[in-house]
Amino acid sequence: MPYDPSRTDPSRDLTWHEGLVSPADRAAMLGHEAACLWFTGLSGSGKSTLARATEQALVGLGVQAYVLDGDNVRMGLNGDLGFSPEHRAENIRRIGQVARLFVDSGAITLTAFISPYRADRDAARALLPGRFIEVWANPGLQVCEDRDPKGLYARARAGEIQHFTGVSAPYEAPRDAELVVDTGALDVEQSVAAVLACLRERGLIP
Ligand code: ADP
Repeated sequence: MPYDPSRTDPSRDLTWHEGLVSPADRAAMLGHEAACLWFTGLSGSGKSTLARATEQALVGLGVQAYVLDGDNVRMGLNGDLGFSPEHRAENIRRIGQVARLFVDSGAITLTAFISPYRADRDAARALLPGRFIEVWANPGLQVCEDRDPKGLYARARAGEIQHFTGVSAPYEAPRDAELVVDTGALDVEQSVAAVLACLRERGLIP
C-alpha cells in the first residue's frame, strides 16, 4: 500500500490515550482557555510579525502562548518538504497535528504559515473543533510586494523561485475567517489589539 500520511492505518491497533488531566483542569490551572490562532496570508502580509507580537503580548498577560513559525518548522520537522501543492498540503497537515497537541496542552497556539489552500486550512480547523481561530492578515498583494521583506517577490517575478504564492501559485482567500486584519492600514500594535479583542470576545482569555 502506498504511503498515505493522511491516514492512520487501522491495522496498527493505535488508541488515542486520554490523560487524567482534562482541558478544564488545564484551563483552571492556567487561567485561560486553549485555542489555535491560525494566521494565514501572503508572504510579507505580516503573519510572523503579528503572531510574534501577539505571543509577546499574551505572555505579558500571563498567558501560556507559543508560535509555530513557518520557516522554523520547515528547517526541522518539515525539512523534507518543498513547495509543490502536495508538499504544502503535507506541511500544513503536520502543523495542524502539532497545533492540536499544543492546544491539548492548554496553550494558546499561534501558527504563521501562508497556508494558501482552503481545504488544508479547513482540515486543520476540523482537528480543533471550537478552538480554531482563523486570522487572515490581508494588506493586499501590492502592499506585500512593496514590502518584500525577504526580497522573495522580486526573485519570484524574475522567475528564480517557482510556485510562489500570489505570483505563480494561488492563494485561496478565506471565506469564513474569524478575524481579518488589514495589516496595511493598521500598525503592529493596533493589529495585536484586534487579535486580543477577538480572544476576549470569545471568552478565551480574561
Ligand atoms: P509574513 O510572515 O506574512 O511573510 P512578515 O511578518 O515576515 O510577513 O513581514 C511583514 C512586514 O510588514 C514586516 O516588515 C512588518 O514589520 C511589516 N508590518 C507593517 N505593519 C504590520 C502589521 N500591522 N502587522 C504585521 N506586520 C506589519
